[in-house]
Amino acid sequence: MRTVKIDSHAPVIISMAHGIGAPCVPVVEAGDYVRTGQLIADSDAFVSAPVYSSVTGKVIEERNVLDINGNLTKALVIDSEQKQYLCSKIAPPVINTREEFIKAVRASGLVGLGGAGFPTHAKLNYDREKYKVDTLVVNASECEPYITTDYREIMENSEDIIAGIKLILEKCGISRAVIGIERNMPSAVRLMRERVQSEQNITVKALPTYYPQGAEKVLVHNTTRRIVKEKQLPYSAGCIILNVTSVASIARYMETGIPFISRRITIDGNIVNKPANFMVPIGITLGEIMKKADLRLQPDRIIFGGPMMGKSVYDLETPIGKTTGAVLFFKDMPTDRATACIRCGKCLRACSMNLMPTEFEKSYEMRDIKRLRKLRVDLCMECGSCSYICPAKRNLTERNKLAKDLLRDN
Ligand code: SF4
Ligand code: SF4
Repeated sequence: MRTVKIDSHAPVIISMAHGIGAPCVPVVEAGDYVRTGQLIADSDAFVSAPVYSSVTGKVIEERNVLDINGNLTKALVIDSEQKQYLCSKIAPPVINTREEFIKAVRASGLVGLGGAGFPTHAKLNYDREKYKVDTLVVNASECEPYITTDYREIMENSEDIIAGIKLILEKCGISRAVIGIERNMPSAVRLMRERVQSEQNITVKALPTYYPQGAEKVLVHNTTRRIVKEKQLPYSAGCIILNVTSVASIARYMETGIPFISRRITIDGNIVNKPANFMVPIGITLGEIMKKADLRLQPDRIIFGGPMMGKSVYDLETPIGKTTGAVLFFKDMPTDRATACIRCGKCLRACSMNLMPTEFEKSYEMRDIKRLRKLRVDLCMECGSCSYICPAKRNLTERNKLAKDLLRDN
């Protein structure tokens, strides 16, 4: 089913922080009237992406909100009027050089849409003296269950994806691109293969259906057979990874000048009558989403993101951010209590980083920082596979996160 657009008829709450990077500072204040696509917050930091209004209306207030990681962040609450007007300053950027291209990507407000939300321009601005990047890996693996936003991007906007890839290759001087798509999306593989038939330097790689296929190191290996070593970035293997929707969004921004103010989310779960994808303004609240979600029953669990790496949310005022890929509604999910570890070793076999989650847990309980360091808990990418597989229902991933925090603080 094609993506359906949802407007917000209630105020939007737009966070000043979206993923990794410095939070932005508002450039508008309560009482100001803003138009759709108008700059509302920015930062002097390079690793940060500007924030734009996703609606037309009056700024009601600046307030603190809890983001889905439990951090207190500033946000602007903007009333959404019936009539929407695009900001008059919007115009396609003029780009000739790599620097102008990266500047334009920053101005688009884009951050990585597939995961941690690292600003896209900062990723493109790698050190060309240090790294010889020759491959753009386009991440269309979409390995988390339920989420189908990238699949819909391919089916609905494949021309934008090709245009975005060509732009990045040309402006950043990268020689080829590989689009990695999991095999459980055969129509997406077929469509992209048709689209790249006449392209010399773009290929499509059908990947095994595997979680976490989208993890950087896994994806680089499965698309290029290169290895990203411990503590290294994909650049060290000559690769840069961008999410497929991010690539298409770059092409759209260069064409229209309209910044990143709306995104596609999947609404799904065991009480959703018609799971589907929706294009929503950034800042629309969970409460507004629930009104459109066609739910059979009242949910007892709501997750922003996928079931493996997503976070449970409780507040109807929690807004959709730039990195929110899904809202999942569940009822009567099993809530088994954790029992003692039976030393089955399943968590070790499930870990694609070859880590030892069960040992992390023990070391964390004893606050044994030295051992946690030795066990390399810092390499845990919090994919959730160990918790998922554990027959004793131990909350291993949560412990890993706490153990990583403990290391950071010591
Ligand atoms: S969450 Fe578990 S399975 Fe995933 S990387 Fe960390 S230790 Fe390994
Ligand atoms: S999967 Fe669970 S029960 Fe098995 S060793 Fe790991 S923590 Fe223990």
